[in-house]
Amino acid sequence: MKRNSDKKLSSWGETWSVSARLVGMLYTQRPGILVSRLLKSLWGSLTPYAGILLSAMIIEELAGSRDPGKLLFLVLVSLSSAALISLTGALIDRFYNIENADYFYYVRKMLGDKMMDMDFCIEDETETRNHLSTILQNTNGGGWGMHKFFYLLDRMLSDLFTLLGGIALTVTLFTSRVPDSAVDMAFLNSPLFLLLILAVMLAVIIVSPMLSNKAESYFALNSNVHNLGNRLFGHYGFLGHFNENAADMRMYRQDILCWKYSSDKESTFQSKGYFSKLARGPVGFYAAASSAVSVLLTGAIYVFVCLKAWAGAFGVGMMTQYISSIIRFTQGLSSLITDTGQLRINNSFVKYIFDFLDKPNVMYLGSMTVEKRNDRQYEVEFRDVSFRYPGSEQYALRHVNRKFHVGQRLAVVGPNGSGKTTFIKLLCRLYDPTEGVILLNGFDIRKYNYQEYLSLFSMVFQDFALPTLPLGENVAASAGYDRELAKSCLVKAGFGARLEELPDGLDTYITKNLEPEGVDMSGGERQKIALARALYKDSPFIVLDEPTAALDPMAEAEIYSKFNEIIEDKTAIYISHRLSSCKFCDEILVFDKGNIIQQGSHENLVADSEGKYYELWHAQAQYYDPEQTA
Ligand code: ADP
Repeated sequence: MKRNSDKKLSSWGETWSVSARLVGMLYTQRPGILVSRLLKSLWGSLTPYAGILLSAMIIEELAGSRDPGKLLFLVLVSLSSAALISLTGALIDRFYNIENADYFYYVRKMLGDKMMDMDFCIEDETETRNHLSTILQNTNGGGWGMHKFFYLLDRMLSDLFTLLGGIALTVTLFTSRVPDSAVDMAFLNSPLFLLLILAVMLAVIIVSPMLSNKAESYFALNSNVHNLGNRLFGHYGFLGHFNENAADMRMYRQDILCWKYSSDKESTFQSKGYFSKLARGPVGFYAAASSAVSVLLTGAIYVFVCLKAWAGAFGVGMMTQYISSIIRFTQGLSSLITDTGQLRINNSFVKYIFDFLDKPNVMYLGSMTVEKRNDRQYEVEFRDVSFRYPGSEQYALRHVNRKFHVGQRLAVVGPNGSGKTTFIKLLCRLYDPTEGVILLNGFDIRKYNYQEYLSLFSMVFQDFALPTLPLGENVAASAGYDRELAKSCLVKAGFGARLEELPDGLDTYITKNLEPEGVDMSGGERQKIALARALYKDSPFIVLDEPTAALDPMAEAEIYSKFNEIIEDKTAIYISHRLSSCKFCDEILVFDKGNIIQQGSHENLVADSEGKYYELWHAQAQYYDPEQTA
């Protein structure tokens, strides 16, 4: 697999506008998160200065007039302010913890909600899925994206307050004058010298974080490589952890084969891998240079403050205050520059999330109400419908005309790739036709309220999803539900006997993944539950895509024997590869290469020896049911 590192740094303008948008979004949606972070940073960065100031005053008093009354007062103020600071700090922490308890959930839900709001046709695109997966990999790999942004926001606020507090307590270091008696040290009073010192300090403060950001940028700019490494390791490295792979892993020793892919010496994270090379090379160099420069700065500060104190500009107490606050000031400034640089590095990841959240929907959503009809008189018609998947040159459906008569049982058959599933996706408006129109009771389905239109259909897809939930909630797709109805749907779907055996009946969890008392269901049992869910919804249309593929012949026969009872007066559309199971339908549509090439009852179609249906029927019957070849 190719490793490429084509990530670009955002411009500063873009960094500030994306950051402002994110802060604005948080401010409108969850102001508590923002306020609590602001308070925590303010408190955490300014309160240490109270200690520095009071200690300096005590040392100054001890080295000066040593007034016991004043000393006692200063000690009492120190102790009580320390107690007050820590108590208030604890209250702020509490506020912060409450406001931020669901912060990770908030960020993750934002992406989940977007996926749910997205038109299915956009969600279904490979590009969309890759986009989401890359966002998650960025977060899991280097914490890049929103999490890093808010982490940096906290730090930058703290840096800023630390910096301001440091400036307030350091100004007099530069303004206090060495007495005229210290002739040799008079240069310390020179404004030119002070400017020079300030310039050198600022230059060093700026250079150190720039070097450290340079080191860090190698990881961000190579996030694609990092993500690919994580994906390879995440796939190959954990194959043996999953039950469903355990037998094959042992039989074919796939562990040895897979380990080669997840850990060969050219790979991303090994000792001779990609990131190791970076760490030994430029990353290591810039990180070391940054630390060296920062140590030099601390030394220079000590020399400057000590020289001024030695020359008599201030006492020993002020010296401790200056050294502590100037070091905090330089740390604050240095950290602010580092974090601002990081913000810029992280920005392309945040922007990438916004690109995802901003993906526009394309489907027209009408507002017409779908008439509620107890008699289920809903008729859908495909009128000269053609369809191409986005980005595809090939038509998946071509000039399809078809009316779904109320209460009809319609089978859809045809070879793989002939357009059966696409036909159903258009019927349920997961996609809109490229050409032609689909009508519900004479009106274009695009004019109807989308959710109301969707509610007309109960589906059992081939790759249905049953979350780890209690059985009854899965059937009803709801937490509060009609237990009797759920039971009767399960019985109709052939799950009655199994339901009797379940330890907690409808409250039994499907799978043991999250609940040790849960029950792992076989493929056939899961298919019956999916069928029961479609029955519970009780929509006028029921669409079944290979609903018995995972059932054993007995269970399949049982379901077919009561299909009429199951389907009742609904309009049913039934997709199957097993032609023998379509015989119960009123009519069969035969798809080939996106066209409906034949339609009619089983008897008529099988009598047409030139037709596709005849060919499919005989190809299958000789293996499946020898009697029917006759
Ligand atoms: P069937 O259900 O009969 O097996 P489909 O309706 O799934 O066939 O597919 C019809 C055609 O559309 C096939 O050529 C298939 O490759 C193509 N196709 C299906 N899904 C997509 C998709 N999401 N994007 C692009 N092409 C697709």
